[in-house]
Amino acid sequence: MANPKPQIKYTKLFINNEFVDAVSGKKFHTINPANEAVIAEVSEGDKADVDLAVAAAKKAFSRNSEWRKMDPSVRGKLMNKLADLIERDATYLGNIETLDCGKTFTSSLGDIAGSVSTIRYYAGWCDKIHGSTIPVDGNNFAMTKKEPVGVVGQIIPWNYPLAMAAWKLGPALATGCTIILKPAEQTPLSALYLASLVKEAGFPPGVLNVITGYGPTAGAAIAEHPDVNKVAFTGSTVVGHIIMAASANSNLKRVSLELGGKSPLVILDDADVDEAARIAYNAIFDNHGQSCCAGSRTFVQSKIYDRFVDRAKQLAEQRKVGDPFENGVDQGPQIDQDMFEKVMEMIKSGKEAKATVETGGNRLGNMGFFIEPTVFSNVTDDMRIAKEEIFGPVQSILKFDTLEEVIERANNTKYGLAAGIITKNIDKALLFAQAVEAGSVWVNSYDLITAQTPFGGYKLSGIGRELGEEGLHEYLEIKTINIKLP
Ligand code: NAP
Ligand code: MG
Repeated sequence: MANPKPQIKYTKLFINNEFVDAVSGKKFHTINPANEAVIAEVSEGDKADVDLAVAAAKKAFSRNSEWRKMDPSVRGKLMNKLADLIERDATYLGNIETLDCGKTFTSSLGDIAGSVSTIRYYAGWCDKIHGSTIPVDGNNFAMTKKEPVGVVGQIIPWNYPLAMAAWKLGPALATGCTIILKPAEQTPLSALYLASLVKEAGFPPGVLNVITGYGPTAGAAIAEHPDVNKVAFTGSTVVGHIIMAASANSNLKRVSLELGGKSPLVILDDADVDEAARIAYNAIFDNHGQSCCAGSRTFVQSKIYDRFVDRAKQLAEQRKVGDPFENGVDQGPQIDQDMFEKVMEMIKSGKEAKATVETGGNRLGNMGFFIEPTVFSNVTDDMRIAKEEIFGPVQSILKFDTLEEVIERANNTKYGLAAGIITKNIDKALLFAQAVEAGSVWVNSYDLITAQTPFGGYKLSGIGRELGEEGLHEYLEIKTINIKLP
């Protein structure tokens, strides 16, 4: 049951299977974005703590460690146990996630179910990661062997705290890596609780370490660390550049990046307008618009444009915004003051550019970071609300005439994370799916993300893929063993 006052059990760094204070003794506040009240004081890790965590992870990865010698099937069992424990404590986890992050309790439970599937999916891979034998020239026997990349850093954002942790831990644990995870400063609580479950499941010390703290200190120390072999990052494109530079300037650690987007959702005039408007509404307003793959450019074909806009406006007006713990509430607050201001500034720019505000456009209440679901029509490609990531509950509806035209406009962006098309014409859907520059394309749906299918971006939306078999490759080295036969 939803409980707006869950007891917070863990607020310290998690290193070598123990909860410990930061070396500096410093702490920071995590706040409830619905009322701006302090939830808890959390240890503020920095370089000194990252050094300790990396040392623990390195030891756990050493050649004769328990983790390295563990049978892969046993690793799979531990992962399944972890999934069972997350499921056991889903309600509690949902409560701390909603409290810390402001997403609705129902959506926290959805994220938790998704995290469980991700961990289970990767648990199944543990004893199925293998190389090949290769017919080579000469009297040689050649084979490849896949090995874990080693100590990995994982830096995650605040919009899906637990789900992003699961996306990162799943492949790292399945391949046998050891981990330093840094949750976002806004949402440290669920990752710390998850750490307690990792310990309870029976993972050896040092396999997972969690350093809570700030990006430019704790995050940077991970990205720059000479003993970290890989860093996986999800967050803003700006910080993505910093992470890549930190790798270049340190030990050339591998980097995978899952960054922002300005994803097009294209609605052709043969679509059912009500259904299309509903899909487009979820595509942009889910998680209060705080989604990297949000369908944030709604392109509607001219013949149905006016009807679509009316329906989009109605849906947004029916959206219930309020206490994320309350039943029936669709939208809670934005994550923090900074993001609130950024979204409000983007709304202002849309108004100044003379897009039509169909509904919304204002702050809601005067406590917490609530924003009215906002719909802009008559948006043109040159407006900032059509070009920049807003990361808030703001729908931008653009008009187009032909499929060829909309393909070109859809691709006219520096991003390439996701795209969608709604049509009854399979030829047109396939043409679009092939032509659009995006890592995921959804047809007659949106946000169809599953543990089994790879997810990631073209262009400035990122490097590498998470989920699916491809997600494993980011955590594997390939060793070639070539044997000269007698
Ligand atoms: P962000 O700064 O990129 O934060 C993501 C993660 O990176 C956090 O854990 C953050 O730590 C860490 N970080 C920040 N600076 C770092 C540095 N110099 N070195 C290493 N790690 C660092 O994102 P944000 O400021 O929270 O959000 C800003 C924008 O990012 C949003 O408007 C949105 O466009 C985008 N975003 C994208 C996603 C996505 O799913 N792709 C998710 C969230 C945000 P702190 O928590 O201490 O900052
Ligand atoms: Mg918080």
